[in-house]
Amino acid sequence: MQTYIHFDLIDVIGKRCVKDSFMTVEDGLIKEVGLMADLAPERTAGAVDLRGKTVMPGMFNTHIHALSSPIAAPESLNGETSGMFALRGMRHLQQHLASGVTFVRDMNGRKLAEVDIKNALKLGLFEGPNLHIARQCLCMTGGHGCNTGRECDGPEDCRKAAREQLKGGADFIKIMATGGVNSDTRPEFSQLDLEEMKAAVTEAHRAGKKTATHAHGKAGIKTAVLAGIDSVEHGSYIDDECIELMLERGTALCPTLSTHYFTEKFGAAAGIAPWKVEKSKRASEAQHIGLEKAWKAGIPITIGTDAGTPYNPHWGTYMEFVLFVEDMGFDPMETLISGTIRAAKICGVDSWTGSITPGKHADFIVLEESPLVNIRTLGRVEQVYKDGRLVDLPPVDKSKTD
Ligand SMILES: [Zn+2]
Repeated sequence: MQTYIHFDLIDVIGKRCVKDSFMTVEDGLIKEVGLMADLAPERTAGAVDLRGKTVMPGMFNTHIHALSSPIAAPESLNGETSGMFALRGMRHLQQHLASGVTFVRDMNGRKLAEVDIKNALKLGLFEGPNLHIARQCLCMTGGHGCNTGRECDGPEDCRKAAREQLKGGADFIKIMATGGVNSDTRPEFSQLDLEEMKAAVTEAHRAGKKTATHAHGKAGIKTAVLAGIDSVEHGSYIDDECIELMLERGTALCPTLSTHYFTEKFGAAAGIAPWKVEKSKRASEAQHIGLEKAWKAGIPITIGTDAGTPYNPHWGTYMEFVLFVEDMGFDPMETLISGTIRAAKICGVDSWTGSITPGKHADFIVLEESPLVNIRTLGRVEQVYKDGRLVDLPPVDKSKTD
C-alpha cells in the first residue's frame, strides 16, 4: 500500500477543493481519501509527500483519432500499412498519457490497427491510457469518413455494420449524421437518416454499448438525438430546438473546440487546404453561440479535442480546458468536471474511473498549482499515475505537433 500526503484535492463529485488531503492506494485502486488532520502520524512513514501540489483525476479526452497524425493533411497517410498505423497510434496514445490524460475514446480506426493497440495495451506490452475504440465509424456511401469507415446504406445494412463493429471489439458505435470540415462534404447537410441511425443505435444499446454521432448541421443533430444517440460530437450548428430535445433525452455534447482553434491558428500558411480553414471558421463562429446556450441550459458537456486533425496534437488535451475557461468563460470547476467524472459518465465508465473515490482505479495527476486558479497548469502536468503506478514515459516534445 502507498500513502500520498499533504496535497490539495480536486473533488469533482463534491465540486470543491479539499485542502491538506491524504489518499492511500493498494493494488492499483484508491483505498482511502481523507484529511491529514484525521491521519494518525505513524501512518505518514514512507508516504509520498505532495506538499504544495494539487491532485485531481486524470483528464479525459472523449474524442480523438489515435491513428491520425496531426499534420497539415492527415489523410495523405491513409495509404500506410496497418503496422505503421499501430506504431503511430501507440506513440499518440503515449503522448496522451504523458500529458495527463488517462482515458481516451478513439473515434475511427484504420485497418484494424486500433484493435491491435487495444489488445497490446490489455496485455501490458506498452504503457497507455484507458482506451475505448469505435473501430470503423458507420457512414453513408460517399459520406464523411468513407475513406476509412464502414459505408452502409439502409437500416438493414446499418444494423449489420453496427453488429460487425461490436463483434470485432468496438467499445461504442460512432455514426456519421452530417458532412464534415475535413472532407469534400458539407457539414451543414445531413447524411445517414433516422431509420439508418436508429438501427445502429438499437444494436449498440442492446449490447450495452454507448453511441456517438459526428454531427455539425442542426437537422443531423436532431435526427441523431431522435434516433437515441448518447453523445453529439462537434454540434457546431446546435440551436434552441436541438438543445431542448437533447435536454429531454439526456443527450451529451462534445464540442471539440480545439480542432477549429488549431486549424485557424496554423491556417493555410502551414499548408492546410484553404477550403478546410474556411469551413472551420464558419462552423466555429456558429458553434460559440450554440455552445454557450447548451452549457447554460445544462446539457452534459464533455472534453474532447478531435486530436489528429490538422496540427491538433495528441499532447494538447489541456487546450480544450483552456478554451472552455478562457474563450467560452465557463466555470473552471464545472470545466474540470466536464473533463473527468462527467466525461466518465458519458462514456459509461464512471463506476471505475473519473474521480478520486475509494474503490476506483488510481488514475490521477499531480499539478504544481490549482487548475481552479490557473487552468493552464493542465498543460504542465508534473506526474501522472495510472492504476496507482507512476507513469514513466519520455516528456512530450511540444516543439512538434506530431
Ligand atoms: Zn473527429
